[in-house]
Amino acid sequence: MKDTNNVDTFLKMLQEVENIALIMHLNPDGDAVGATTGMGLFLEEMGKSVAMISPNAFPAFLRWIPGSNRIINAEKSTDKAVDALNKADMVICLDFNARHRVGKFSGHLEKYTGPVILIDHHLEPEDGFTHYFCRTSASSASEIVFDIIQEINPELSSLSKDIAASLYVGIMTDTGSFNFSSNDPDLYPKIGALVKAGADPELIHTLVYSTSSENRTRLLGHSLLNRLVVLKAHKTAYIYLTHQDLKRFHFRVGDTEGLVNYTLSIKGINLGVLFTERVGHVKISLRSKGEFSVNDFARKHFTGGGHKNAAGAESKMELRDTIQMFEDLLPLYSEELNKDVEYK
Ligand code: 5GP
Ligand code: MN
Repeated sequence: MKDTNNVDTFLKMLQEVENIALIMHLNPDGDAVGATTGMGLFLEEMGKSVAMISPNAFPAFLRWIPGSNRIINAEKSTDKAVDALNKADMVICLDFNARHRVGKFSGHLEKYTGPVILIDHHLEPEDGFTHYFCRTSASSASEIVFDIIQEINPELSSLSKDIAASLYVGIMTDTGSFNFSSNDPDLYPKIGALVKAGADPELIHTLVYSTSSENRTRLLGHSLLNRLVVLKAHKTAYIYLTHQDLKRFHFRVGDTEGLVNYTLSIKGINLGVLFTERVGHVKISLRSKGEFSVNDFARKHFTGGGHKNAAGAESKMELRDTIQMFEDLLPLYSEELNKDVEYK
């Protein structure tokens, strides 16, 4: 039986350690960065020495996040990241639940022999972590970090403005601004506490959602006008982007973040997918409305995963073949895909 969500166990482990390395998943999003900086700054307040590692670059619209300027990019500064890992007496993994999700850095993580803590909200966490803070009903890894901080420090006196802003951006981005995974009424007192501690929702929303480059906004236009395919019979829509498209709009990390959600904005569409042709693979982002589980679909057919209504995967096939395989699978799911979302 896994020892999960036990703050006392975690505190005991913390007493034994000084240097802690925090690691987030490849292509970090707002939750990965926010949960990491939030936890990192909190551990520093507890007197620990903290290193924060990202497997690769994170989007420019997250670079204002307090403490994010200290994140080591393991793709660019591999030696520095490996040194930080080797020096660590404890590792904390945030916002992912399988070691392969840190990409090329996973080899180093697998070799690490000290305690490894997992803080995450994805379905079906991998075995082998030393301690688990996992709750799939949580909106985000950032919310779980909040829970840990609150349990250690119930009056929240250690919740600085910077920690609050970090956790707020994680929750805001992972819920699509309190759209999905946000039906739990217990989430809202936590949001109140973050705002009370100094997180500024208006400013944070502007910093995240109103700082696109002109190229990114035009890539959105191109995607919706020229790269959107609607398969009404299967209540499915997808967008595909080729190397050429990315080159034409000077693609930067994060430029396609949120793009897949536009597919679901069409009435009657229950499954939406974004296929992006990257070097050596196709990145697949899947979203659904209602009962159709994109986690199951991505796991079964594309060795990916995530949540019931938001998942991701990678395909080693060509873009064209990946899309063909996807289209061929849809008839197998017509019953689930045809269940419409309605007011209950
Ligand atoms: P996104 O489509 O925004 O990249 O990811 C949606 C969700 O699926 C996120 O929670 C993300 O962590 C997860 N996810 C994305 N890509 C992969 C993948 O290749 N494998 C697995 N297991 N999960 C992924
Ligand atoms: Mn997350």
